Amino acid sequence: WPGWGRRKVDYDQLKRILLDTPSSEKAEEWSRYYTAGPHLAGKNYSQALWTKDLWEKFGVKSDIVSYDVYINYPVDHRLALLKKEKQDDGASAWKVSFEASLTEDVIDEDPTTSLADRIPTFHGYSASGNVTAPVVYVNYGTYQDFEDLIKANVTLEGKIAIARYGGIFRGLKVKRAQELGMIGTILYSDPGDDGDVTEENGYAVYPDGPARQPSSVQRGSTQFLSVAPGDPTTPGYPSKPGAPRQPVHSAIPSIPSVPISYQDAIPILRALNGHGPKVKDFNKYWNRNMGLQYKGVHYNIGPTPDDVVVNLYNEQEYETTPLWNVIGVINGTIPDEVIVVGCHRDAWIAGGAGDPNSGSAVLNEAIRSFGEALRLGWKPLRTIVFASWDGEEYGLIGSTEWVEEYLPWLRGANVAYVNTDTAAGGPDLFVSAAPLLDNLIYSVTAEVPSPNQTVPGQTVFDLWDKNIHTMGSGSDFTAFQDFAGIPSVHIGFDAGYKAVYHYHSNYDSFHWMEKFGDPGFVYHKAMAQILGLMTAKLAEMPVIPFMATDYAKALDSYVKKVEDKLGAALHLPQVEEDLSVLAINDDEVYFELRSRAHNTSALTTTSSSSPPDAGSFKTHLRRLHHALEKLTERAMKLDKRAKHLELDFEGVPWWHWPARIKLALAIRKVNTKYKYLERAFLHEQGLDGRPWFKHVVFAPGLWTGYAGAVFPGLMESIDAEDWKNAERWVDIIESRILNAAKGL
Ligand code: GLU
Ligand code: CA
Ligand code: ZN
Ligand code: ZN
Repeated sequence: WPGWGRRKVDYDQLKRILLDTPSSEKAEEWSRYYTAGPHLAGKNYSQALWTKDLWEKFGVKSDIVSYDVYINYPVDHRLALLKKEKQDDGASAWKVSFEASLTEDVIDEDPTTSLADRIPTFHGYSASGNVTAPVVYVNYGTYQDFEDLIKANVTLEGKIAIARYGGIFRGLKVKRAQELGMIGTILYSDPGDDGDVTEENGYAVYPDGPARQPSSVQRGSTQFLSVAPGDPTTPGYPSKPGAPRQPVHSAIPSIPSVPISYQDAIPILRALNGHGPKVKDFNKYWNRNMGLQYKGVHYNIGPTPDDVVVNLYNEQEYETTPLWNVIGVINGTIPDEVIVVGCHRDAWIAGGAGDPNSGSAVLNEAIRSFGEALRLGWKPLRTIVFASWDGEEYGLIGSTEWVEEYLPWLRGANVAYVNTDTAAGGPDLFVSAAPLLDNLIYSVTAEVPSPNQTVPGQTVFDLWDKNIHTMGSGSDFTAFQDFAGIPSVHIGFDAGYKAVYHYHSNYDSFHWMEKFGDPGFVYHKAMAQILGLMTAKLAEMPVIPFMATDYAKALDSYVKKVEDKLGAALHLPQVEEDLSVLAINDDEVYFELRSRAHNTSALTTTSSSSPPDAGSFKTHLRRLHHALEKLTERAMKLDKRAKHLELDFEGVPWWHWPARIKLALAIRKVNTKYKYLERAFLHEQGLDGRPWFKHVVFAPGLWTGYAGAVFPGLMESIDAEDWKNAERWVDIIESRILNAAKGL
């Protein structure tokens, strides 16, 4: 019982240490190290070793945990525009009218852009292939964008898609193009999506100013996300050497794709001028963010005529290769209550100062701070596990394989997972989390001073929009939240619109960070303080700082969302109209709107049952309201009891050990209830068509990827107007809510 008795370092002392220790200088030092070395998954062993040694130096016992995973490396590529031209002798021949560079410019003042072994531009999990065909502009390549094209009779089959990045996960753009018979995909970064900070608006481009460097390319994974994250050959189980492997065809693309810069996109988009409808006249959802009009692009949809084609060649080498997580452990007094804190270490590029090295630097600073406390004799109540994940970029591989390997232990012992990734790319705080953690997030951010002190004393909380997003996917929390049912939080400072963040490009470099992202590394320091305090509260508060009532409240608001959707299903035109007005300046609303109307899936729900229809179906939701009433009542009781026990515990001096032990036992009961609450929402069979995703409340949207869906099984059935299945999902959700209530 040492943890429950007198503490050598109590929480207040620990808190001081965690606020005072992180330093901008140290964060900068770690950033400098990480941004100068090799990062690609399977190629970063030196940085794994260095990280392990550093954590051990801080006093945290650490190990390297490796998996054998199936990934690709780039071999060769080409993208060219070809025109058929009449020769002097009257015969016609193909002429290359434009050859894309597919390379990012070397910038002298940004040294890592000229590294000899810098990583070519390519897509993770892209298919090799060599295709030549006319091209079609498909906007963001959302499900709804493609629906619009089909409705307008634009030929897609046999053509190559050019889509702008943005809104949804890139792999889903390739997935839909492939499903519709397109034979290749080009993804480009349109400066129209960079807010006002553009060259067109007079901002200088990087490195002279904050606007996008015209040759910048967003690399990134094009896995389909629909089967499972992690190694696509081992869905649901760890990629240990010798593990059986599954076929990958439904998990990754079979048509080739390349990412390109806007500079390389301009000639291809111009070749579309005059062909097919202009997006301006096409559809209001397409008529936005056209950042290249001033470069002579008219934004026509195409296709280009048969004598104007694109040659897309992509060659990838696939291999099964080791990757390396670094796992550090501080053992606590309570063996079966564990907090996990992680950030990935792999990157697409040499630099990666934002993604993920701001996170790696911040994690190191938090660990160094805990090391200071350890030196003074501190031992946490709960065990803390730190993780530097590998292979996140290809598909959250390191974290997913680890969760799959340790699932029985984690399901029994893991109280919460704290994730950071791009931790300090600028001043705008971004948070997504499970509702159990909302209160903790508010309280921690309110205890950390903001680096912005234009109003003296203001905290991170004061300057935050206080928006806690629902969890989707896109970083290493996914396996914890959606597969293992562990309440998770994902937190970081974003660049915002003051400077364009060159995501997955060579210009996400130390130089960019120093000059535009986080000059002085002050947001690095603030995030290290946040990470430290959040971890400390989770590990040290005798009563786990969860609020069950917040979960019940959130569930209630999600049921309202379902009701809204049913309303929309009944009166679709008006609702769509209204939301479109809302959506003009709000990307998140925009993409939710764009994915809601026909979010029908790869589900094979052909026999849509006639009655009940949307109207009569609404009555079924009453059952959810009833179940939630029960949950709310129990949750309020539990939170109240927790508060009492906390106060009582504080009131009993450490030497009054019989009373302490009695209280500790009561607290232990409450904590066990909190610990298993999230787990109650797991449905072992998983979602329709994607059994790996087991959480009935949260999942990445089927056609959004990054943005989260709530009650995904139910929402997807309603989208498909499959009322029988929707009813089945109401049953499942109701039973999960009642299960949760029973557990409390
Ligand atoms: N952060 C990665 C990306 O957005 C995640 C990749 C994935 O989920 O497969 O590209
Ligand atoms: Ca696996
Ligand atoms: Zn990342
Ligand atoms: Zn990334």
